[in-house]
Amino acid sequence: MSNLGEFELIDWIREQAGGADHLALGIGDDCAIQKLGPDQDLLISTDLLIEGVHFKREWTTLYNLGRKAAAVNISDIAAMGGAPQSLFLGIGRPAQISDLDMKELLSGFIYETQMHGAVLAGGDSCGSPGPLMLSVTVQGTVATDEAICRQGASYGDAIYVSGTLGDSALALQLLQAGQIPEKSLAERFHLPSPRVELGKFLSARQIATAMLDVSDGLLADLGHILTASEVGAELELDMIPLSAAFQHQQSKQPSIRDLALSGGEDYELVFTSPLKDLAEQTGLTTPVARIGTITQKGGIQIRQADGQLYHCQRAGFDHFA
Ligand code: ADP
Ligand code: MG
Repeated sequence: MSNLGEFELIDWIREQAGGADHLALGIGDDCAIQKLGPDQDLLISTDLLIEGVHFKREWTTLYNLGRKAAAVNISDIAAMGGAPQSLFLGIGRPAQISDLDMKELLSGFIYETQMHGAVLAGGDSCGSPGPLMLSVTVQGTVATDEAICRQGASYGDAIYVSGTLGDSALALQLLQAGQIPEKSLAERFHLPSPRVELGKFLSARQIATAMLDVSDGLLADLGHILTASEVGAELELDMIPLSAAFQHQQSKQPSIRDLALSGGEDYELVFTSPLKDLAEQTGLTTPVARIGTITQKGGIQIRQADGQLYHCQRAGFDHFA
């Protein structure tokens, strides 16, 4: 049986669903944008986490799983430059999960939610005959017309990324190989921190022309900005920010380099801006690195320090591929 790819199906759904006057933006970005009033827009996003697909119970505590479920959804609000406000949690609970474990999961979820100034405002609970399933919906707000969408990058804009890339994918690769990743790597995988402050900073100052969060890998996610904005990109391989732990592992295993380009779940923000040196911005408290430049349409080219083009061997993630 041949399936439509994840993104082909989403394109089809978007056509069928149509738009509405109250929606400033519907299907196709990190969040939908609904008009709230003269000053504010409402951001809404929803995500599903399924045991065996997004997490394994052997690798995590239920407390950390709860935290991560909230964090990755809050990251979609951060990716639009908004402030998270209310979260809704649907739980499909297999019979063998104890009450204590459920309370751990909820405590982690609530902790992470509150840490970002938001609240758990509802949800749904039912039994699951199969895996543990979590469905999370998040709502946030942003000043009217200041949400930063995937569309909006222009020729000549600089491309920036926050933090470091590849750590979460490296931790996952080590876990899959039966190894124990060192603490800093494991934390990037188990407890990603959504870049809410950076997102708000960029939207309030209207510095960024396009933005999203890296959930499926830099190349795949930057690709969404390029498609929506009808532009291309040139990246400088040596400018991709790597953590000390990643560089240490790379010195022993050079092939992991591609994890920084196409490994998922970093939850860093990738954004474009006409400003060529963001480090000069006062008040910027999150580390950001310039990794390239927006070009004319034509995909992503990655340039090595010696000027040669680099070819990444790994593709991004498609849930139906
Ligand atoms: P993200 O990585 O930010 O979660 P996705 O790639 O999952 O984004 O989704 C891309 C867009 O497609 C979003 O606007 C999302 O709301 C929409 N989408 C995905 N699945 C569905 C669905 N089953 N029904 C309606 N919209 C969907
Ligand atoms: Mg999604």
